[in-house]
Amino acid sequence: MADKKDIVLYFSPHQDDELLTMGVDICKTCLLPNKEVHIVLCTDGSKSPARQRLNSNKICQIHHQIHNYNLSEEEFIKARDCEFIASCTAMGIPLENIHIYEKRAVDGSLSVEYAKEIIKHFVSIYGKDVEIRTIAPFRFGRYQHEDHYNLGLAAKALLKERFFKKSKFFIESYHYPKGKRKFVLSLFFNMQKEEISDEIRSKIERVIQQSYTCWKPEEKRYAIGYHCVTDIFEYYKNNIASYSIKSRLIK
Ligand SMILES: [Zn+2]
Ligand SMILES: [Zn+2]
Repeated sequence: MADKKDIVLYFSPHQDDELLTMGVDICKTCLLPNKEVHIVLCTDGSKSPARQRLNSNKICQIHHQIHNYNLSEEEFIKARDCEFIASCTAMGIPLENIHIYEKRAVDGSLSVEYAKEIIKHFVSIYGKDVEIRTIAPFRFGRYQHEDHYNLGLAAKALLKERFFKKSKFFIESYHYPKGKRKFVLSLFFNMQKEEISDEIRSKIERVIQQSYTCWKPEEKRYAIGYHCVTDIFEYYKNNIASYSIKSRLIK
């Protein structure tokens, strides 16, 4: 009989968070022979301002051409899912382990209760020995997107209820500690910065190119992630890193 693999379930609030916040960890874990990696997308990503940008009939500062693609909300969601699948497969997750949950929340409306339901649904499929990895609920002096915050809170609450035993919580790149803050935050929250090999770094660069910055409108590839959070992608490209928090220390 083949050795049983440890199942790791990543939960991403939107199409792009799996890469921008958990990408390094996903790439590293996909290379481990004893791990089976799954990812769950928890919302439809429908409310991103990138849709207005692509439908604006104005010149885009990134692509220096007029964008007038008239994308309906449905077409927009489909194109975002396409970027998500491209990102996850490029990171090494098998297609059958990429779960675009059919009962996902509408972007911006993910409550703690509903996020708990989603996590419970997948734990019921894969068993209580799974490890849950998601975004840390972290509002230390800065705004955090409601969907991110609620998903983190849901995972934290379920861990406390011992609904599963293992978890890991990640910090978004715009919360990476810098300067004096770095020392205080690292110490106070026991933030761990992970080592990244050159191999992983170049892999992440390739994933970015193949997914959220891919601009081929003739193939319905609209670089939506990049249009949506250009600054965050630019920052991440120059600061590829991974920070996580020990779950018991999350405030
Ligand atoms: Zn997000
Ligand atoms: Zn553009």
